[in-house]
Amino acid sequence: MNFQYSGTVAAISTAMSDSGIGIVRMTGNESFEIADKVYAGKNNKVLSEQKSHTIHYGYIKDGEEVIDEVLVMLMRGPHSYTGEDTVEINCHGGVYVVKKILEVLLKNGAFPAQPGEFTKRAFLNGRIDLSQAEAVGDLISAQNEYAHKSSVSQLKGNVKDKIQSIRQEIIYHTAFIESALDDPEHISVDGYGEKLKKDIDRLKEEIENLLYTCDNGRMIKEGIKTVIAGKPNAGKSSLLNALLGEERAIVTEMEGTTRDVLEEHINLKGISLNIMDTAGIRDTNDVAEKIGVDRARGHVSEADLVLCVIDSSKSFDDNDRNIFQMISEKKTIILLNKSDLDRVITKEEILNELELAKTRLMTSDKSSLVRKNEIILAENVEIIEISAKNRDGIDELENKIKHMFFEGEISFNNEIYITNARHKNALRQAMESLCKVSQSIEDGMPEDFYSIDLMGAYESLGNITGETIGEDLVNEIFSKFCMGK
Ligand code: GDP
Repeated sequence: MNFQYSGTVAAISTAMSDSGIGIVRMTGNESFEIADKVYAGKNNKVLSEQKSHTIHYGYIKDGEEVIDEVLVMLMRGPHSYTGEDTVEINCHGGVYVVKKILEVLLKNGAFPAQPGEFTKRAFLNGRIDLSQAEAVGDLISAQNEYAHKSSVSQLKGNVKDKIQSIRQEIIYHTAFIESALDDPEHISVDGYGEKLKKDIDRLKEEIENLLYTCDNGRMIKEGIKTVIAGKPNAGKSSLLNALLGEERAIVTEMEGTTRDVLEEHINLKGISLNIMDTAGIRDTNDVAEKIGVDRARGHVSEADLVLCVIDSSKSFDDNDRNIFQMISEKKTIILLNKSDLDRVITKEEILNELELAKTRLMTSDKSSLVRKNEIILAENVEIIEISAKNRDGIDELENKIKHMFFEGEISFNNEIYITNARHKNALRQAMESLCKVSQSIEDGMPEDFYSIDLMGAYESLGNITGETIGEDLVNEIFSKFCMGK
C-alpha cells in the first residue's frame, strides 16, 4: 500500500479543558527544525542537535514573546509512535496556552493534523497494523475492565498475529498451486486436493472459533443489551435503581407508571450493561401504555439478557405467563423480588411455569417445531431471590451475570476476542471463500479454481490487518479517531 502523505503536522493531544499539563505533538521531517525555531533553552541549546528520546527544559516563544515554560521531548524516527521525527511539548494545560503553542508551530511551518493522523502515520509507516491502530481507538474509548483488556491484547498484536498466521498458510497453498500449474513437469498436484482439504478444514475451524467470539466481543466492547421485564409493580424500576445505586427510574405505588423505556449504561465487575427498564408488560387498553408495552416486547426480542422481575409476594398470573412466553428463548435471570415480604411464589412453581411455557411454545407453531425443540430452557435460565427495595441479592445477581456471559474471569492472556464489526465481516467473507475452496475440491474441479478462492480468503483477511485495504476506507477509519491521536 502506498498512500501519499507528506509534511509535518501538529495537534493538541490532550483534552481541551483547563488542566495541570497539556501536550502539543508534532510529527514529520521538519519537526526538529520547527522546534528549533520556537524553543529557547539554557546556553542556546539547539534541539535538533540533541539525542533521541531526551527531554529538555525551556520556553516556547512566538518571536520575542514567551508563551509558556515547557518540557520538550524528542523522538527521532523510526523510533517513535509514528515512525517519523516527533516532538512532544509538555506545557501548562490551559486551553488558551495549548492553543497558542499550536498556533506558533503552525506559524513556523507545521500543518494542522487531521483526526487520528498520528496513528494513521504509524500504520502507513508500518509501525502497527490496522487492527492495532483500531485497538488504540478502542483503548481510548474503553468503558470497562474487559473492554480495556481486550483492546490492550489487540494492541499487543494478538489479532494481527493470528490473522497473519492464517494468511501465511493460505498464500503457501496458492503459491504451490501456481508453481505447479506453471511447471507441471516438475511439480505434481496428484493427491494435492486431499491434503489441501485437510488444511482448509483446519483453517475454517480456526476462523469459526474467531467468529464464535464475536458476540462476546461485541458485548465486551459495547455492553450487554439487558432488558428488565416484568408486569407492572413487580419492582423493575426499583431493581434498576438498586443496580445504579441512585434514584433514576420513577418508583410509584400505581401500576403502569414506567411508560417509556429508560436506558442506562452501568459498569459492574468489569463488564458493562446497557440496561433498559421497560414499561410493565401486560395486556392494556391505555394507548400510551400500549405503545410502551409493544416497545418493551421489541426490546426483549433484541436483548442479550433479560432480567425478569416477578413479584413473589403475589400469585403468578397470566401477565407473568405472557412474559415467560416472550423470554423463553433468551438468556434470562428470573428475579423473585420482594423477598422481604411473605412469599407466595416458590422456585418450584417458577420451574413448572417455565416448563409449561416451553410446551406452549413448542406446540404453538408447528412450522418452527424443530428450532423450538432446540430451546434448552433450563440451561438459559437462572433464578435468584432478591429484594430490590432492601438491595438484598444484588451482589449475587451481578456475579451470575458475569458468569453467564463470560464464565467467570477472562484472563486475555491467550484468548482473542473479535470486538470489531469490520473484522467480523472480513472473517465471514474469508470463511465463504474457504467453503468455496472445499466445494471445488469435493467437486473435483481443476486446481486453478482453488487458487481463485484461496486468494479471495487471503484478501478478506488482509482487510483486518490493513494490507489489502483501500485508501478511502483507511481514511474513514482514522477520521473516527480523536484529534491529536
Ligand atoms: P415497576 O412498576 O415494576 O417498575 O415497580 P416499582 O419499582 O415502581 O415498584 C412498585 C412498588 O413495589 C413500589 O412501591 C416499590 O417500593 C415496591 N417494591 C419494589 N421492590 C420491592 C421489594 O423488594 N420489597 C418490597 N417490600 N417492595 C418493593
